[in-house]
Amino acid sequence: MMNSESLSYDFMVQAIEVSPIGTVFIDSEGSIIKINPAACVILGYEAEECLHHPYYHWIYPEDVNKDKDRMEKLKSGKTASLQLEKRLIHKQGDIRWVSCMLSTARSREGTTLGYVAHFTDITDMKKAAHQEEERLIQSDKLSMAGQLAAGIAHEIRNPMTSIKGFVQLIRSGAGGKDEYFDIISSEIERIELIVSELLFLAKPQSVKFERADIRQLLDQVITLLNTQAIIHNVEIITDFGEREAIVEGDVNHLKQVFINFIKNAVESMPGGGELTIRLERDDDHTVAIYFTDNGCGIPEAILSRLGEPFFTTKEKGNGLGFMISKKMIEDHKGQVHVSSKLQEGTTIKVILPLSII
Ligand code: ADP
Ligand code: MG
Repeated sequence: MMNSESLSYDFMVQAIEVSPIGTVFIDSEGSIIKINPAACVILGYEAEECLHHPYYHWIYPEDVNKDKDRMEKLKSGKTASLQLEKRLIHKQGDIRWVSCMLSTARSREGTTLGYVAHFTDITDMKKAAHQEEERLIQSDKLSMAGQLAAGIAHEIRNPMTSIKGFVQLIRSGAGGKDEYFDIISSEIERIELIVSELLFLAKPQSVKFERADIRQLLDQVITLLNTQAIIHNVEIITDFGEREAIVEGDVNHLKQVFINFIKNAVESMPGGGELTIRLERDDDHTVAIYFTDNGCGIPEAILSRLGEPFFTTKEKGNGLGFMISKKMIEDHKGQVHVSSKLQEGTTIKVILPLSII
């Protein structure tokens, strides 16, 4: 008859073998001493190929050091286990995201034997979340494009009218034609500018980081929004200072952020008002952009929900603008701060790191 301890030991071994959760035992030196079939499936390797190799061979280089502080705590015994998301490298070279629980294994006497890693593949979930984010960005852009269309149609009508007038003048044989052509081509340039600004909104763009002057980006979005503002009796006042403010960023995303903050400001002043856009360089490392309106302000209850997707107080709002903008600024290693006073107005402060090159 088998004793119950050795019987339960056999069960434990079996449990690890058949577990759908990837399980790896790592000795105190960081070498893999046991790997179960589920872990082999996630990695695409046979157990023999992994045994006695350092576990970090399979971890995406950038992620090896990322949790260093927390790993130190685990080693020193301050924490018993860690929950992390990490990228592993599959045998075929692609990245697999895993949700990983790392625990210290101790002997009965309490000495550290090594670590146990339990992990499941969350790559599909990550991909779906990424696609969802892209979809939200696109939906926000399209809704902005739609809402701006009226203002833009208006903005294009003025140069069109003047072009039409000059064409008629030329046809009637009036003199001074060079001058007319100059005016016509500058009006066409203006239409081109407006249309290209609108097109960027409607088209999905791939993310591309490049050097850009914040002052120029702001000028471009103001071109797009100015008629909208004038229709609502809002004056946009700019104070960009003399110095350039070059950041490293995705131009389309940054413009989308600025449009969102300007639109929100304009919409907070249904009876008209002023929106001041000010740049400030505290030091050589960051630039702060302030969007200050004297609109309705944001009540405490709404302030705490700002950034929740689909949270809106507007009939035609989608409640995506703030969330997406904040996420985009954070992707640029920046920050967004909101300060607001009811009936007095709101200031959105965006901080971005300046380009170091
Ligand atoms: P939407 O503009 O579609 O409603 P946002 O995410 O841009 O979505 O904003 C969410 C909510 O935050 C708005 O509905 C509004 O109540 C509030 N809000 C944002 N910016 C301002 C502002 N400058 N002044 C007043 N309220 C604001
Ligand atoms: Mg908005």
